[in-house]
Amino acid sequence: MSTEAPRPLKQEQIEATDEITEVAPGILRTMLPIDFTGLGHVNMYVLEDERGVAVVDPGLPNKECWVAIKQRLKNIGVPMRRVHSIIVTHSHPDHFGGAERIRDKSGADVVAHRLFRSWWNPDEPGDLDPEEMALYSARPREHVPWGGPDMEVPWKRRFPMNIIRPPHRMVPMPTPSIRLREHDSIKFARREWFAIHTPGHTEDHLCLFDPEEGVLITGDHVLPTITPHVPGLSASDDPLSMFYASLDKVGQLGQQVKVALPAHGNPFHDISKRTEEIKEHHDERLQRLRDTSSTLNRPASVMEFATYLFSPRAQGPMAHSETYAHLEHLRLRGEFECRDNGGILEYVLS
Ligand SMILES: [Zn+2]
Ligand SMILES: [Zn+2]
Repeated sequence: MSTEAPRPLKQEQIEATDEITEVAPGILRTMLPIDFTGLGHVNMYVLEDERGVAVVDPGLPNKECWVAIKQRLKNIGVPMRRVHSIIVTHSHPDHFGGAERIRDKSGADVVAHRLFRSWWNPDEPGDLDPEEMALYSARPREHVPWGGPDMEVPWKRRFPMNIIRPPHRMVPMPTPSIRLREHDSIKFARREWFAIHTPGHTEDHLCLFDPEEGVLITGDHVLPTITPHVPGLSASDDPLSMFYASLDKVGQLGQQVKVALPAHGNPFHDISKRTEEIKEHHDERLQRLRDTSSTLNRPASVMEFATYLFSPRAQGPMAHSETYAHLEHLRLRGEFECRDNGGILEYVLS
């Protein structure tokens, strides 16, 4: 039984309202309702220009979001057919959900990082370099390597796989028509935006930076008050290192960023401060793992270490996966050793 007192809601957990706010020149923030991995809304930014609008991260593939998307555009006074681009920051369903449906109605381009992919979509961008290919070609494993309960795909509960998996195509994942690579530029809201590849939360995570007005679209890479999930099950051997590098990449923009627009929670101003806070959070977790191992003075499983990093209510495969990312990071640095104890991985300080 948990004895934890209920905590006040974080910005990212607050329910969507129909408020529309201008957060930067030509950029409106709208909120779509989601009830997904503890989040209360996803921000669908609307970028206006002479061609119509681009929308960023149009919610989950469900009716509630679709109704909200139509309502928000109506309130702004933009007919659906004027949506010329749908920007999807990464391949999570609370970000790509409405993309295919908007494209059906408007013929809009779907813009994503070139590594964007669905789990089953054979579509593949051409000319990937070996590093990109390694990130692109990883597929989810059937069983978790650390020997605990397997990952549950969070949206499986809500959307049985036979509904979202083609050929039914009721809620297909979009195939991007414009795939961006690092430093590519693209025009939205009457100015140039530059693609920044920020793998860590997912391999295909994309941020967009507009140096003219100092606007950074951060997706889930940098959120204002919560830290995005860093999965241990990644195409990279050390997803945490990849995430740290991606935090530095946007953090070093520093004062060039006047406003950062996250996918969940409120816009914020100091990007470097926030990326440093997120790095510190993971540094603290690494230290807690060292301290725990030193106190236990014996090898322990990923599931056991997870109980020292996450609250009782957060325990489960996602907590295990993130703990595994941290333990593997320490193992690859030579600080921890790992052994296989009858199918269960156990870690201990070297
Ligand atoms: Zn995400
Ligand atoms: Zn998200």
